[in-house]
Amino acid sequence: MQSETINWAELDWKEELSNSIVSIDQLKEYIAMDEEEEKKLREVVKVHPMKIPRYYLSLVNPDDPHDPVRKMCLPDTNELIVAGSMGETTKDPYGDDKHDKGNGVLHKYDYTALIVATEFCAMYCRHCFRKRMVGKPNNQTLKDFAAATCYVAEHPEIRNVVISGGDPMMLPNSVLRQMLMPLAEIDTLDFVRIGSRTPVTYPIRLFDDELMDLLAEFNEKKTLYFPTHFNHANEITPTATKAIKRLRHAGITVNNQAVLLRGVNDSAEAIRDLMSNSLRIGVNPYYLYQCMPVARVRHHFQIPLKQGIEIVDRAKQWLDGYGKRFKFIIGHDIGKLEICGMSEGKIVLKQIHARSGHSDQASRVIIQDLDDKAGWVNF
Ligand code: SF4
Repeated sequence: MQSETINWAELDWKEELSNSIVSIDQLKEYIAMDEEEEKKLREVVKVHPMKIPRYYLSLVNPDDPHDPVRKMCLPDTNELIVAGSMGETTKDPYGDDKHDKGNGVLHKYDYTALIVATEFCAMYCRHCFRKRMVGKPNNQTLKDFAAATCYVAEHPEIRNVVISGGDPMMLPNSVLRQMLMPLAEIDTLDFVRIGSRTPVTYPIRLFDDELMDLLAEFNEKKTLYFPTHFNHANEITPTATKAIKRLRHAGITVNNQAVLLRGVNDSAEAIRDLMSNSLRIGVNPYYLYQCMPVARVRHHFQIPLKQGIEIVDRAKQWLDGYGKRFKFIIGHDIGKLEICGMSEGKIVLKQIHARSGHSDQASRVIIQDLDDKAGWVNF
């Protein structure tokens, strides 16, 4: 399937979603696999569902088993390895569940509330750190909008709300309106973020005029930011560019939170191209996450921290000031840590967010020994 043969911007987003590739039988029509691989992949998708929009699949070179985009969307037999070469794993490395206030509200940092709006996404990314819940029935998502709004209003220390998931853009416009508009009335909130990977995996959603009107209307009342998740320059297509332009025309700032992934963007050149091409389309490089120790992800996607630091340091040599604004980040159970670099064989970290009740930890510098192969830090 060639991306150029379909005008993605003209499709109905709901209808096209139902054309996504969700079974191994469908996948076999696009990608060659032998019998043994097929058998294993059937096991993988029983544990972690597959959903690949036709648009995203069109970015994959079916003849290249090492295609970086392929690795993010196609199930991999490595997903049968729960832990593996990089070390132990957990289903919840970011400690979300400890801060779950019920009804899909997570309150980890005093000043930010995260609302898990849905478990559905346009695509189920194989590297997702919320793999334990996306695409699966669970009781961790938002059920009662009014109660979530009340929680935010009753906690004036909350200065911003992140609506995340899953992908909130999978919700119908009427539901998004019900969710968003009451937040606009909370004076203590400075701004709202909607975290969505649709500009990357399913830009078709953003060609919906009614949605754009809603987002622009909300942005008039309360500043709206749109964090997204481009991981490779090959994802920055003309269609994705048009979708980003629509958000920017609605006055919305788009920031990018990438993840460093083995076989996807684990070279200085790939990071340089990702950051510079993001800027070219008006997306601000914001975070580059170290891949978390997620079960069925870490073994084949994580690279050692030392290698990551070398990649980032080299990429930054080529990038201008805007390109190198991104922070290389560990999203740890104790909070967010910026990876500043190496000094005399030790890793230098700066904590940039501390969990609620631990504000004394914020802004501290941490220097630790680091094994050449270590992919994570422990405290
Ligand atoms: S869109 Fe985001 S939440 Fe959904 S599977 Fe991908 S990374 Fe996970």
